[in-house]
Amino acid sequence: MGLVSNERLLAEVRDAKQMVQTCIQCGTCTASCPNLDFMDITPRHMWRLLLTDHAQALFSSKSFAYCSACYFCTLRCPRGLELTHTMGLLKQAASRLKLKQFQRSSLFYKAFLDSVEKHGRVREMEFMTHYFVSMKNLVIPFGYASLGLKLLAKGKIGPEFSSVGRGIGGKGKLEAMFKKVAQLEE
Ligand code: SF4
Ligand code: SF4
Repeated sequence: MGLVSNERLLAEVRDAKQMVQTCIQCGTCTASCPNLDFMDITPRHMWRLLLTDHAQALFSSKSFAYCSACYFCTLRCPRGLELTHTMGLLKQAASRLKLKQFQRSSLFYKAFLDSVEKHGRVREMEFMTHYFVSMKNLVIPFGYASLGLKLLAKGKIGPEFSSVGRGIGGKGKLEAMFKKVAQLEE
């Protein structure tokens, strides 16, 4: 990761650290996480690194990027800690810091949310096209070609680039919500 100092990283995760101050390291969050197999450090370990100011070790792992916000850990934490929100704060910090190893995740989220904001739902073809274009890498899409063809053949996705069609309707209804979230994040 190299160039970003531990101090700079610590400044970005101050709020996240505050959220887990009373963690007792019981491991219930780890035992509850359905995405644990994809993580190289466990949620309990993440909180330990946060609390001991090992921010570089924390950001050397991509574990928090694999959090799918299922809320199991939040519901089961005996200290009532808002762990899903804390994972979100770590994702936001990685995005703000423009860390290279999280660039794909950040671009993915952006393309996803742009599609939801525009149509009220995700339009898969448009969303993936925007995602691939934003990565400025012509090779990566080929890795998804066989999956895309299978989904097309099964009718799970289809060309839907026009603004007519399968949105939830009420264009602009989500605008206020997106504006409010942007305000809260400032
Ligand atoms: S479940 Fe809560 S108290 Fe237990 S390790 Fe996880 S965050 Fe800490
Ligand atoms: S909210 Fe995230 S970290 Fe918590 S159990 Fe679900 S996937 Fe795991």
